Amino acid sequence: MKFDTTQSKLLRIWNLHRDKSVKYHLNGLIYFDHSKYSNMAEPMVKPKCIFCRIGQKIPLEGSVQATELLYEDETFAAFRDHRPAGEHHYLIIPKRHIRAFNCLQFEDTPLIQDMAEVAKKLLADRIGREVDDALVGFHWPFYTVGHLHLHAIWPPNRMSLFQKFEFSRLLFGSVSEALQTLEKRKKSS
Ligand SMILES: [Zn+2]
Ligand SMILES: [Zn+2]
Repeated sequence: MKFDTTQSKLLRIWNLHRDKSVKYHLNGLIYFDHSKYSNMAEPMVKPKCIFCRIGQKIPLEGSVQATELLYEDETFAAFRDHRPAGEHHYLIIPKRHIRAFNCLQFEDTPLIQDMAEVAKKLLADRIGREVDDALVGFHWPFYTVGHLHLHAIWPPNRMSLFQKFEFSRLLFGSVSEALQTLEKRKKSS
């Protein structure tokens, strides 16, 4: 596969970010609570983070419309994406502030698995049946909101051209790719 210049530029930035993720670990910038998933301590919700606010049901600032939670448990919350790329487009977030997928380590594998499980149940619930062709995954390394979120989109084949790019393999990774990435982080440490 041949990339055009924009794509190869993006790939370079992507790799740069990947290397940086190692630095994030070393700097100890992983300050969220992981008690259920690994040995990290300290719960944290960032008052200025829009997804933290949605998860904690704190009213959003300004004219931003309140976001209804479609699913919620102790650890996760889910709601509609405000720019849906399909008839069903949901975001699943950990309630605790986790900045991005790049912050995660191998120990966070159960976190990703649990998020995927929530996505699967939510889609089945909203669609009325189980589907196996939903697009479920993460944006990395680019994200508009710096709070880890899993996209669950169905049907996956009715996107605009821009959305197709936004959710293409270049900018978006499936859950299994995310799990593979975490697996690699185990070996390299
Ligand atoms: Zn947050
Ligand atoms: Zn995203």
